[in-house]
Amino acid sequence: MNYKVPFIRPDFPADEEIASDYAQILASNWFTNFGPFERKFSAAIANYIGPEYVACTFSNATIALIASVLAILGKGDNTQYVLMPSFTFPAGAEALDWCGYRPLFIDIEDRGLHMDVEAARRTLEDAAFKDDIVGILFCNAFGVGTENIEDWEALAKQSGLPLIIDSAAGFGSLYSGDRKVGSAGDCEIFSFHATKPFAIGEGGAVVTRDKKLVETLLAIQNFGFANKRNVTMLGLNGKLQEINAAIGMRQLERFDTVLEGRRGVHARYMAELDPKQFRLQANAEVASLCFTVVIVEDASARDRHLERLLEAGIEAKTYYSPSLHKQTYFTSVKTQSPLTVTEQVDASVLSLPIHDNMKPEDVDLIISVLNGR
Ligand SMILES: *Cc1c(COP(=O)(O)O)cnc(C)c1O
Repeated sequence: MNYKVPFIRPDFPADEEIASDYAQILASNWFTNFGPFERKFSAAIANYIGPEYVACTFSNATIALIASVLAILGKGDNTQYVLMPSFTFPAGAEALDWCGYRPLFIDIEDRGLHMDVEAARRTLEDAAFKDDIVGILFCNAFGVGTENIEDWEALAKQSGLPLIIDSAAGFGSLYSGDRKVGSAGDCEIFSFHATKPFAIGEGGAVVTRDKKLVETLLAIQNFGFANKRNVTMLGLNGKLQEINAAIGMRQLERFDTVLEGRRGVHARYMAELDPKQFRLQANAEVASLCFTVVIVEDASARDRHLERLLEAGIEAKTYYSPSLHKQTYFTSVKTQSPLTVTEQVDASVLSLPIHDNMKPEDVDLIISVLNGR
């Protein structure tokens, strides 16, 4: 179906904008393997987070997640656990599986919809699991930075576990104050997929303060070659192409305007949706906003709202519902306790479109359909 208002409308550089970059790539005969565009782009991504950060670009965030787990935990034998939420995108759980670790699903809190730090703490004290837990895979849900990142860093430090953060949709988001998503944990993983607020087609990056980690990631993403033609570790092919890096440099130039536009739409949802019926994900106002996530206070009305939006030609969704533990492949994954909040959020979540240049009348329509006027 062709919607009047699609859920996502990627905004890419115009062909004439990118033509000179492509001509340069052709002239240099350098299409991939750490060419000049990729080198420039990876430095720019790190610098966007802060001068003390380093980055390693990837062909996508899923490969970046796999490489991060391999670099930090090594390859597992499927006996050890990594804490993660069930309310997220499957890539993180799949990355753990590919690396030989078992996800252990933890409940979420209902403000930010992030993994609940107290539930994680209880799990780390649970005799049934505690000796077999080797890491934490936190997810900044929908790319919105958690308000509790310091608590997670403290828990990781106290328990001696690495903190890997899947911030796939969150390039451009803030935690609190001016602290950027990308600045926390052992490393953070971003996706630059066409559907994310910062989009280059297929692409991703790992950002960290740890230069040695980047060296390892660079080797892993290039078949495990370190310096010379000598494979020193298990690798794969995770390299970002020059053309995507070139698109990334163009996207970065105008990213401030993009963020302003997206936050403007979100601010309207925040100000105009009926607060008796709808609640917005906490801290989303300082995120890059792949879309706006709404909790419908009366969960029994969620499907009716969704249907009315679709009937009005508005492509709304219910991400990340169904949560991973309800999906066929993950039904055998262990959970420490009932995923009570996860279940509630699954039943009441609604995701609303945001585009870089969204027409005000499209936002008017969405708000009026939802408010029932
Ligand atoms: C989009 C997304 C991914 C996957 O990113 P790709 O670049 O498409 O591999 C992983 N995790 C989360 C939370 C995402 O939203």
